[in-house]
Amino acid sequence: MASLFNKKIEELKGVGEKRAEKFNRLGIFSVGDLLMYYPRDYEDWSQTTLIEDAPFEENVCIKATIRSPFQVNFSRGKGTMICKTVAFDESGAVSLIYFNNRFISNMLHTNETYFFFGKITKTLNGLQMISPTFSKIADGTSMHPIYPLTAGLPNRIVSNAVDSAIKMLPEKINDPLPQWLRDRYNLQGLGYAIRKIHFPSNSDELFVAKRRLVFEELLILNLGLRYLRSNTREENGILLKKNYTDKFKSLLPFEFTNAQSKVVNECLSDMTDKRFPMNRLVQGDVGSGKTAVAAAVSYSVIKNGFQVAFMVPTEILAQQHYASISALFAGTGITVELLTGSLTAKNKKQVRTRLASGETDIVIGTHALLTEDTEFKNLALAITDEQHRFGVSQRSALLSKGNHPHLLVMSATPIPRTLGLIIYGDLDISVIDELPPGRQVIDTLVIDTKKRIRALSFIKKNIMEGRQCYIVCPLVEEGENSPDGLLSAEQYAQTLMQIDDYKNIPIGILHGKMKPSGKEAVMTDFKNGEIKILVSTTVIEVGVDVPNANIIMIENADRFGLSQLHQLRGRVGRGSEKSYCILVSDNNSPEATQRLKTMKSTSNGFKIADEDLKLRGPGDFFGEKQHGLPELKIANLSNTDDISETQQCVKEILEKSPDLQGDDLKGIRAEIKRLFNKTGGTLLN
Ligand code: ADP
Ligand code: MG
Repeated sequence: MASLFNKKIEELKGVGEKRAEKFNRLGIFSVGDLLMYYPRDYEDWSQTTLIEDAPFEENVCIKATIRSPFQVNFSRGKGTMICKTVAFDESGAVSLIYFNNRFISNMLHTNETYFFFGKITKTLNGLQMISPTFSKIADGTSMHPIYPLTAGLPNRIVSNAVDSAIKMLPEKINDPLPQWLRDRYNLQGLGYAIRKIHFPSNSDELFVAKRRLVFEELLILNLGLRYLRSNTREENGILLKKNYTDKFKSLLPFEFTNAQSKVVNECLSDMTDKRFPMNRLVQGDVGSGKTAVAAAVSYSVIKNGFQVAFMVPTEILAQQHYASISALFAGTGITVELLTGSLTAKNKKQVRTRLASGETDIVIGTHALLTEDTEFKNLALAITDEQHRFGVSQRSALLSKGNHPHLLVMSATPIPRTLGLIIYGDLDISVIDELPPGRQVIDTLVIDTKKRIRALSFIKKNIMEGRQCYIVCPLVEEGENSPDGLLSAEQYAQTLMQIDDYKNIPIGILHGKMKPSGKEAVMTDFKNGEIKILVSTTVIEVGVDVPNANIIMIENADRFGLSQLHQLRGRVGRGSEKSYCILVSDNNSPEATQRLKTMKSTSNGFKIADEDLKLRGPGDFFGEKQHGLPELKIANLSNTDDISETQQCVKEILEKSPDLQGDDLKGIRAEIKRLFNKTGGTLLN
C-alpha cells in the first residue's frame, strides 16, 4: 500500500493530464491518496424493487432489460438531445430518458439486463426514469459509493478510477496494524477495509470496513500525539529548591480561592519533587483566575533563579497580562518584559538581548517568542494561555527554547472531553473548579431586534451608574454590502454615535484589522473607563479582563458557535456587579433556537462544549486550523465510543512498547510519520 503513495494518479488507466489536474484539486496526487478518498455516502442498490411495486418519486433500484435501441430526438428551441428507450422487468415497463448524452447508446445495449437507480415518475405516457444511474448485473456490487466531487469530475469517473486503483493493490498488503492487535480488537485487514469502504456489497460489510479504518486513524492520531509529548519526558526536570508561594500570596490584592491554591500546589510539587519536567494542563472556566495561578507558579520559578516564558495567542491578551503581571510584581525586583510582533525591530532586538543575558525574568509574548533569534539564558518554565489556539508544534517550539523546561498549559474549558482526551492526551490535569467569591450569576437574555431599543436603554442606564459595556458584531468583510442587515463593528458604532441618547457616551471600536498600537490604545481606554461602550468583533473573545464591564450584547448571536458565545459571555461577571449577556437574534430556526436556549440554561463550560460538538461537529472548535491536528479522513472526533476504544488500545501498545520501537509496530510508525508530516510537523525521525 505504501508504494501506491509514490504512484502518480496519472498512472491510472483513464486518467490523463487534464483529469489528473482535477483530482489534484481534490487533494489527490497519488493512487494511494485516491484509495484514501473515501465516499461521503452510498446509494443502496442492494434491494431491488419490481417496477410495478416501486414507490414514485423515491430513489429505487430496479433490475430491467432493454428491449429496443435508443431513439434520438432533438427538442425544438434549445436543441437538447433526447435519448429514449424502454426497459422491462417481469412486472412492467418504464421509459428511460437521457439528455445530451451522446454515448448512452454505446453504454446500454439492447437485450441486456442492468440495475437502474433513480426515481420513477408517473406521466401521461406511462412510467419514466430520468437519467438513472446504472450498472451491469455482472458487476454485482449493490452499494454504490458517492464521492465528494469537484466540477468536471463526475461520480462515475471517480468511482472507475478508484476501481482501477483497487486493482493495483497487491495480493498481500502490509497491514500497519499487527495481527495480534487486529485479533484483539476484532478488526478486518487493511485490504478488505479499503475494498469494502469503496464497494461494499451491503451495509454490514460497510460497517466492518469503516470500523477498521476509523480505528486505525484514531489510533495513529493518538499515538502520534502521545509520542510527540513523551519526547519531553525523557529527561530530568529542572528542580526548584524552594516554594515561594506564601510570599507570593502577600502580593495579591485578594485571597486565592481554595481551587487556585490547590492547583498552584500541584504545579509546585511537579517542579520540586518529580523526576520529569512538569507537563500540566490547568483547566478553569472563564473568570476562574488562571492568570493569577500562572503568576504564582512563575514567581517561585523566578525566585529560584530561572526564567519564564508566557505565550498567549493575541496581542491584546499579551498586553493585558503584561500590565497585570507587571503590577503584581512591582517592587519585587522581578523584571517583566513584553515581546510581540508589533514592537519595532530595534525594541525586539533589545528585549531579546536581555532575555539571552538573563536580565529579564519573565517575558510575556505572542508567536514572536518562537522565532529562532529568541534565546533564553535559563528558561525553566514555559506557559501557554488559551491553549486551544496553539498547535502542538508551537508548544514544542516554545519548549525547545530551554533545556527541558517545565510546561504549564492553560485553557478555558470549552473543549469537549472527547476532544480533550486526544488533544491533551497524557498531560496531567488540574482543574480550577471554583470561581472567586462574590461573583454573581450572569443573566442571559435572548431578544429579537425589535427589543434592541429597550436593551440599549438598559445599557445606557448601567453606564450612567458607572458601568461599562461590550457590544459584539459578527465579522463582516470590508465592503461587503451587509447582506442580511449585518453591520460591521465600525458601522454599528457610527450608527450608535448618531443616536441622541448616546451622543455624550464615549464609544470605542475594536476589530482585527486595526494596527496593534491602535488596538492597545482602545483597550487601555476601555480598561481605564474612558471608553464606556466597546463595539468590537470577536477579538475580545479570548481572555480580555475588564471587571467593571457588566453587560455584553451580542448581535446576530445565532452566527456564533456556543463555545464562542460562552467565551464572550465570560468577559462580564468579573466584578461584583450583577452582569448580563444579551443575545440578539431574529433567527427562529429550530437549530438556532436550541443553541441560544442552551446558552440561557447553563453556564457550565463543559456542558456547553459538549453541546456545541454535538450540534456543529469538531471542525469549528478551533476557529483556525491552528490546533495542530492533522486532517482526518474518516474518523469523527465527536464519537466518544470510538475514541475510548482506541484509547484503550493506545494504552496497551505503550505499555508493551513505550517508545514504539517494537518490530511489529513498524507499520504504525510509518503511518504516524505520514499523517503528521502532512501537517508540516516533524514528529518521528
Ligand atoms: P481566566 O481564568 O478567565 O483567565 P482571569 O485570570 O482573567 O480569569 O481572572 C479573572 C478576574 O478575576 C481578574 O480580574 C482577576 O484579577 C480576578 N481574580 C482572580 N483570582 C481571584 C480571587 N481569588 N479573588 C478575587 N478575584 C480574583
Ligand atoms: Mg485568561
